[in-house]
Amino acid sequence: MRLVVLGGGESGTGAALLAKQQGIDVFVSDAGIIQTGYKQLLYTHQIPFEEGGHTIEKIASADEVIKSPGIPHEATIIRKLHSMPIIDEIAFAARYAKGKIIAVTGSNGKSTTVHLIYHLLHAAGLHVALAGNIGYSFAKCITQSAYDHYVLELSSFQLEAIQDFKPDIACLLNITPDHLDRYHGSVEAYAQTKLNILRNMTPLDHFIYHTSDPLTTQYLPKAQLLPQLHPISPLSNGRFYLNGQRYALSISQQQIGLLGRHNQYNAMTAVTAAALAGVPTSIIATALPKFRGLPHRLEWCGAPQGINCYNDSKSTNVASTIAALVSFSQPIIWIAGGIDKGNNYCPLLPIVQKRVKAIICLGKENSAMIKAFHPLGLPIQETHNLSSAIDKALSIALPREVILLSPACASFDLFKNFEDRGNQFKELIVKMCMKH
Ligand code: ADP
Repeated sequence: MRLVVLGGGESGTGAALLAKQQGIDVFVSDAGIIQTGYKQLLYTHQIPFEEGGHTIEKIASADEVIKSPGIPHEATIIRKLHSMPIIDEIAFAARYAKGKIIAVTGSNGKSTTVHLIYHLLHAAGLHVALAGNIGYSFAKCITQSAYDHYVLELSSFQLEAIQDFKPDIACLLNITPDHLDRYHGSVEAYAQTKLNILRNMTPLDHFIYHTSDPLTTQYLPKAQLLPQLHPISPLSNGRFYLNGQRYALSISQQQIGLLGRHNQYNAMTAVTAAALAGVPTSIIATALPKFRGLPHRLEWCGAPQGINCYNDSKSTNVASTIAALVSFSQPIIWIAGGIDKGNNYCPLLPIVQKRVKAIICLGKENSAMIKAFHPLGLPIQETHNLSSAIDKALSIALPREVILLSPACASFDLFKNFEDRGNQFKELIVKMCMKH
């Protein structure tokens, strides 16, 4: 058996390490330059690799190719290998996972939900690992220990070539337009990729989804629905049901301690998954309020001059910013903008009209945003600098109002990444708190 792994990042290196551990002859090929840390791992484990280009002869002689999720199907190398079996790192890793797999996908809320599931299983004393799109490879995780449960965050990219991958419990949080550049602008193609998670599931498995999500309900009937279904409906109103039975467990917004209705949905998903994995509801009830949420997701970071400031830098699409804006009843000074991935701002207009007092556009190029929101007649200011965005917001806001950084856009124009944007915001707010 000879394997070739395309891409020497987190997924690719993880797959190569697992293959090596299993005694498989493996070779890594990357079109770009492999990061020093990953290169070091490959050297240490004596895994041969090439970088800066693919040698087609070396790849075409493999029995199977593992593709890193960053490589689209249209990539030249994938087209050249069209007759070969090509699978995702996730599918490869799952062959060697002995424990149960709980997989979470969706356009928004994946990271929050997987961390909460992990938190609940961990509280129950289960031997559980967290991996996948959170930045830690599933394959690498398997090389380290034989866990009883794997909680996996899966992006649509990781679900493109899943072959025989089958989770025991799958959660689909929502489907809203994102990454459409990868799917030729087709929402249907993007939705189908997310629904790939169901492809190999059997009547012994469980599928949790949300009946209030329009694109889920539109595309779900087209999927093969063999697993046991656990629909979560807004009508359940924070009460917890499993298999139609109501439990004495509240998942109200007060109980979970995270802002926003969307987080209540995330929590209902996580609690259902944890209960299906065998966590007693008494443990869930104690552990749930202790979950603190993740940085950069509606994170409170201070109240200079009595104005509450929230860092939602992870919001890089319209749907997540809608979720943020509807989470407050106080007037919002909204800091937004960055790299617009072809956003349609129309769904935001009525919410911005109702909740926002002023908009501060923070991007290298703000014209699309200004054009979209100008008709609302709200004050709009523009800046290319975070510190001046905060100064402008503070000069408009009154005590008890809210300053919200929820960009609806990617960060790479002015920042290294969303963490950098959020960290800079937090530091500046803390400085403001000390000043006032
Ligand atoms: P993901 O891993 O899918 O990107 P995160 O939990 O990191 O999800 O959250 C990303 C952004 O989406 C944050 O701005 C967060 O506040 C928002 N968000 C979280 N859950 C939801 C949800 N269920 N629906 C809409 N937006 C959400």
